[in-house]
Amino acid sequence: MKHELPRLPYPSDALIPVITKNTIEYHYGKHHQAYVNNLNSLISGTPFENMSLEEIIKKSDGGIFNNAAQVFNHTFYFSSFRPGGSNLPKGSLSAAIDAKWGSFDNFKKEFANAAATLFGSGWSWLVKNEKGELSIIKENNAGCPLTSGLVPILTFDVWEHAYYLDYQNRRADYITALWSIVDWEKVASRY
Ligand code: MN
Repeated sequence: MKHELPRLPYPSDALIPVITKNTIEYHYGKHHQAYVNNLNSLISGTPFENMSLEEIIKKSDGGIFNNAAQVFNHTFYFSSFRPGGSNLPKGSLSAAIDAKWGSFDNFKKEFANAAATLFGSGWSWLVKNEKGELSIIKENNAGCPLTSGLVPILTFDVWEHAYYLDYQNRRADYITALWSIVDWEKVASRY
């Protein structure tokens, strides 16, 4: 199957000032699109051609894995935001976060710390296991929790291309700003 760049659920200038139009145009328009194009070209004529994106991620390695996982990770990341953000709804995710980290604020502190301390390029993830237990993990490069059988709930992209145009070397400021645009209703629906 041919993979497509999914449409963003908001206009390219809707997340200003947290993520500028310029960053969306490069990060989504160029980087995300390039992963899609590379994936289509790499799987052409291989057994991966007829697999779903998730199946490719679980079965491939090397360049095919890197591009497939980056397509998934970026689609997941960009679909976790909405202009102005939202509050975490009371419900099962909220209760599970409180049970694990004591409070929503404490969870955010731990998640931000994971994102800030990830060395080099990668992703911080909130995931759940098959028992519904939450954890925060760091993945380097194109790392994706699907390969460990974990269910992704939230991710922050901490590759420099995600923030350098807007924040230069200030990764911590980017992470702090991202909280204000998280679509928690969407995130909670993944739990
Ligand atoms: Mn990225």
